[in-house]
Amino acid sequence: THAAPASESPKPTASIGAQVAVVTGAGSGIGRASSLKLSEAGFKVVAVDFNSVTGEETLSLMREQGGEGLFVQADVSKEEDVERYVKAAMDTYGRIDAFFNNAGVLQKFTLLENLDVTEFDRILNVNVRGVFLGLKHVLKVMHAQGSGSVINTASTAGLRAEHSMSAYTASKHAVIGLTKSAAIEYVKKGVRVNAICPGGVDTALTQAVPAMMQESGYVPEEFPNMRMGRFADPAELAEMVVFLASSKSSYMTGSVIAVDGGLTL
Ligand code: ADP
Repeated sequence: THAAPASESPKPTASIGAQVAVVTGAGSGIGRASSLKLSEAGFKVVAVDFNSVTGEETLSLMREQGGEGLFVQADVSKEEDVERYVKAAMDTYGRIDAFFNNAGVLQKFTLLENLDVTEFDRILNVNVRGVFLGLKHVLKVMHAQGSGSVINTASTAGLRAEHSMSAYTASKHAVIGLTKSAAIEYVKKGVRVNAICPGGVDTALTQAVPAMMQESGYVPEEFPNMRMGRFADPAELAEMVVFLASSKSSYMTGSVIAVDGGLTL
């Protein structure tokens, strides 16, 4: 064993108290449920979403339960927007302890040969570029602090293919690649980076699936097997997010955690 240089010695993520979390895609589903649970756990929450109506609603819900935070409207795929939400968090609270890098979009079901380049780019832009930009700007802050925990939202489609969802599958495999790369680069800097892999979650995104199929006139040949016979409640994902954000998960970095009701068995 050898001692790490003093400047790089790992500091444990502080335990939950007056800490600050930034959550993207906070307007709905897993992002909203996690904002509420992080807030309940004592984090001040900077809620970020493209949709200002649903994002402001999340902020109101947090305040109703006695939480503190703010909402920033931003498109996570635009670097100036990412810099703006990071600056808002720093100007208001001066630190970022946890970052839930979660905003994402689902693609239209289609055979790969019929997948439009514009649709491919739309999915990769949000799910990969957005996650990369969030990492880039938040890791800079956490590196300077010498502490922090990042949770990226991948998917069971990051672990194996989802039929007729090649762009989405590629994007979520990329999220896992970014998670592992960031985890390796920051492990000696006190910053942990993990990914969660939801399977079917009962959110606006999954509720839109039947309509998306009807609209596209295309039904995939195979469906994921909901072994529990139900979708997850977003709150069931949020529990894992709070755990990974807290020092209870202090020995975890680069982990890719399925919270999928057995879907990938
Ligand atoms: P899930 O919770 O299953 O990940 P949802 O569709 O319920 O899926 O939530 C995704 C959230 O991400 C939505 O609130 C949506 O507005 C947000 N979102 C999607 N694209 C962007 C983007 N480019 N920038 C910021 N937020 C986005």
